[in-house]
Amino acid sequence: MTLHHDKHHLAYVNGANAALDKLEKARQTGFAGIDVRGISRDLAFNASGHTMHSLFWPNMKQGGGGTPGGRIADQINKDFGKFDSFKEQFGNTAKQVEGSGWGILAYEPASDQLITLQAEKHMDLAVQGMTPLLAVDVWEHAYYLDYVNDRAKYVDAWWNVVNWDDVAARFGKVRK
Ligand code: MN
Repeated sequence: MTLHHDKHHLAYVNGANAALDKLEKARQTGFAGIDVRGISRDLAFNASGHTMHSLFWPNMKQGGGGTPGGRIADQINKDFGKFDSFKEQFGNTAKQVEGSGWGILAYEPASDQLITLQAEKHMDLAVQGMTPLLAVDVWEHAYYLDYVNDRAKYVDAWWNVVNWDDVAARFGKVRK
């Protein structure tokens, strides 16, 4: 996780800033010949990489795990039937991401419900307007050192460090 934070996460911050710098420069020199499509793609990828990792770290704590309480627990029961059903759905969602990406629990405001999603890379397959509340990184860089190629074993172990207090706080902010 140290390597993951200090090297991989940092690269996304640097990438997002580089894309923003290119746009700033283009505003000064003109957009003729500027690959705005490529820059926009780099910005989406790297800024989303930063956002997702900024969620991922506080989503975990030593001695975490267990089950949530309070309003987030009520909402999980309402939208998924029961906690174990949510856990099975989320786990399968994360394990079945094609290639590099994320398993995500998000609040979707238009329908006022929690949904599970996959992100390929950091941003593909998103529902616009959703707010991710809980995410597990399933890029190989997240688990290869400890779990080699066994993503499922990593996801199953990850439940033991989930910080439900952080998830509940995030839910409280988006659902007033
Ligand atoms: Mn990562």
